[in-house]
Amino acid sequence: MIPINNHYQKLQASYLFSDIARRVDAFQESHPGQPLIKLGIGDVTEPLPPACIAAFHRAVDEMADRRTFRGYGPDQGYEFLRQVIAEGDFRSRGAPVDADEIFVSDAAKCDSANIQEIFATDIRIAVPDPVYPVYVDTNVMAGRTGPWTNGRYEGLTYLEATADNGYVPALPSNPVDLIYLCYPNNPTGATLTREQLQTWVDYARENEAVILYDAAYEGFIRDESIPHSIYELEGAREVAIEFRSFSKNAGFTGIRCAFTVVPKALKARDGSGNAVDLHSIWARRHATKFNGVSYPVQRAAEAVYSTEGKIQTRQLTDFYLENAGLIRAAIESIGLSCVGGDNAPYIWIQTGGDSWDFFDRLLDKAGVVCTPGSGFGKCGEGCIRLSAFNSREAVVEAVERVKDTLAG
Ligand code: PLP
Repeated sequence: MIPINNHYQKLQASYLFSDIARRVDAFQESHPGQPLIKLGIGDVTEPLPPACIAAFHRAVDEMADRRTFRGYGPDQGYEFLRQVIAEGDFRSRGAPVDADEIFVSDAAKCDSANIQEIFATDIRIAVPDPVYPVYVDTNVMAGRTGPWTNGRYEGLTYLEATADNGYVPALPSNPVDLIYLCYPNNPTGATLTREQLQTWVDYARENEAVILYDAAYEGFIRDESIPHSIYELEGAREVAIEFRSFSKNAGFTGIRCAFTVVPKALKARDGSGNAVDLHSIWARRHATKFNGVSYPVQRAAEAVYSTEGKIQTRQLTDFYLENAGLIRAAIESIGLSCVGGDNAPYIWIQTGGDSWDFFDRLLDKAGVVCTPGSGFGKCGEGCIRLSAFNSREAVVEAVERVKDTLAG
């Protein structure tokens, strides 16, 4: 028989959300008809903004006419979309990003998973703890870690984010080459100030490291002092790749569109020590393994940057942030401490004890699904994550049930 990639054998039994789904299914089987409210997985619930829907329809009509029909598009994404992104998300905020540094894709998940392919196998990786599991699992699959021992993979540097450091990890004390950062953070909802992010950029410059900056939740930032992009920081173009997504700010989880920025100033070295620019390596990878996002979806994404699109996406993120505010107020009213929910759609709650036990208690007694913090890493033990992605009605009902269960 053909051998498999043995690194897959090191992966923990299943992806976190599959574990949750299994427990939820078991609960529903044993409690038929009992209504559950899901504040676990970070999937949106509200429909697409009308400006996106209109653009989507127009583009579908174009595909129905041989004069305007389009086949394969450019692998890097249509110029019309990359131009509005460069202006709307970056240059208007003083972040120097050009349209040809943007790679349109179908997911920040895939991009943040695939990017590690362009680096050597023996590089040193730093990941936050708690963390979006994709960053860790893809490095395990690629063979950059040792086995799973005592709740962590050997060979990774874990950047601990806890209540003690305000969920902002310290710089690594040992040398690392590739650093994953995610702000606003999933799962904690924490954010970084300009000064804090500058410290990471400076570290990367001094240590010739690369930062992979996941800004999938950028659309939820309300505090004007928080940077939206790492490229707002001095020197970041030489050390950072940024991931963005239309999933959460515009409700695209079901239609799929995202993008990655690889600045032309970002260099790494080849086996002989010569400088190589990562933009052309990623362009090569993208062109070989990805065949573009569909034309109607890119037109819908373009509409996010129209006057109405900006207003409507703001209304959408405001709606989820209002949900987050309700959840946070309820949690604080029963005396638990929490972070997030003000510039992010997640609320990270310190519950103490075993987080899967707390998950089971909320499921059994309140019929509310959360995400156990330990699923995001060792530092997540004793915490749970609640997501603000649900209808207002469901959130209001969920917070009442949670208050009754925990206060009672
Ligand atoms: N990055 C982070 C930190 C996320 O939490 C998520 C989704 O939950 C993603 C990326 C995925 O984004 P996309 O829907 O574009 O794949």
